[in-house]
Amino acid sequence: MKSILRLAIALITALNLAPATTSAADTPVKVMIVAGQNNHAWQKSTPILQQMLVKNGHFEVIMNNSPASGAPASAWDAWQPDFAGVGCVLLNYNGELWPERIRKAFTAYVAAGGGVVLIHASNNAFTGWKEFEEMVGLLWRPKDFGYSLYFDDNGQIVREQPGQGRGMGHGGQYDWVMTTRDPNHSITWGLPLHWMHKHDELYHGQRGPAENVHILLTAYSDPAPGRSGTGKNEPIVWWVPYGKGKVVVNLMGHVGEVGSVQCAGFQTVTCRACEWVATGHCATPVPADFPTADKVSFRP
Ligand code: ZN
Repeated sequence: MKSILRLAIALITALNLAPATTSAADTPVKVMIVAGQNNHAWQKSTPILQQMLVKNGHFEVIMNNSPASGAPASAWDAWQPDFAGVGCVLLNYNGELWPERIRKAFTAYVAAGGGVVLIHASNNAFTGWKEFEEMVGLLWRPKDFGYSLYFDDNGQIVREQPGQGRGMGHGGQYDWVMTTRDPNHSITWGLPLHWMHKHDELYHGQRGPAENVHILLTAYSDPAPGRSGTGKNEPIVWWVPYGKGKVVVNLMGHVGEVGSVQCAGFQTVTCRACEWVATGHCATPVPADFPTADKVSFRP
């Protein structure tokens, strides 16, 4: 009897410890990339995101851009993004508030189990859309708007109160060291504890309801002159459950002269995020060109 119990425990332990990755070539995850408005060059970054997903081999990609900024109501009426049947909505969008009809459809999609991945300035969008702000957790909002989170030097999460602590913003652009905070998550499974992300804009002091925020990766925001950071370990990638759905926020990906979206680390994390929100698993392995603690990896 005891040996059966022991076997059962061993089996359960093995199942729990098994990498949450799978090599099975499952049905491709359908990803809908939504751009169309952004204070960043979405016309430049969106094709790179699309190419990244196609090259990965686990995705079927649909593009669905919103009408341009200032478009007439008729253009918005004609915009019918069909979220149903999509595994992941990849937001590369920072622009006008969507019509209520689309906001409702999007919220219902996530609540029913849909997946969302936000890139960089997408967390700047939609001020006042409560459901969106809840599912994103931490946003580009003024200090009074909500709570803020960071990791202290002992690896403990510090929760700053609304109106207190550091404000939202970003310093100069440079290569930063990413720190994996949850190595057991499917998205971060097998990644080095520290790895160098290519030349990017490091957001700090993001604000929001900050409920159920699971931080996967942070970066140290360097306060040195020219970098003008906070001296804190800022959350860069996190996820928030919303109803039956999952939302991953990836603050990497400001598109500047050198294209941080071409960092092998950014691409691995983003592809895995798109898989995970859709299926709960990640088939994307850690690639041979993944950055190390002191060396960036850029895919031209
Ligand atoms: Zn930016």
